[in-house]
Amino acid sequence: MECVFCKIAKKEIPSKVVLETERIVVIEDISPQSPTHLLLIPRDHYPTLLECDDRELLADFFTVAMEVARKVNADERGFRLVVNTDEEGGQTVFHLHMHLMAGRPLSGRMG
Ligand code: 5GP
Ligand code: ZN
Repeated sequence: MECVFCKIAKKEIPSKVVLETERIVVIEDISPQSPTHLLLIPRDHYPTLLECDDRELLADFFTVAMEVARKVNADERGFRLVVNTDEEGGQTVFHLHMHLMAGRPLSGRMG
């Protein structure tokens, strides 16, 4: 059985898509923690960052993050990229993804 983000990437579960590339789908988080809160979801399933040995995909995350930041004007005042990894990293959906948060001053302290 496929996970929720696999289904979102395949459009089997609806979501608000902001940008799509060959390998990554960018959607709005269902429970935004900042005015702009996007999720970069790879079409391929890796449970956590630790399982991902695909260097091209890892590079893509940052390239796509910059592209989508510009698209939603988050480049003007700045943004934060987060990859929660495993239990203590606060990961709740075990399909590798990156958060892009912007639109309000984010705490200088992490976590
Ligand atoms: P994590 O804590 O694993 O890094 O983040 C998972 C994120 O996915 C959370 O911010 C949560 O709100 C978001 N999320 C979980 N399920 C869905 C969903 O079905 N649709 C969307 N758009 N976001 C989801
Ligand atoms: Zn998945």
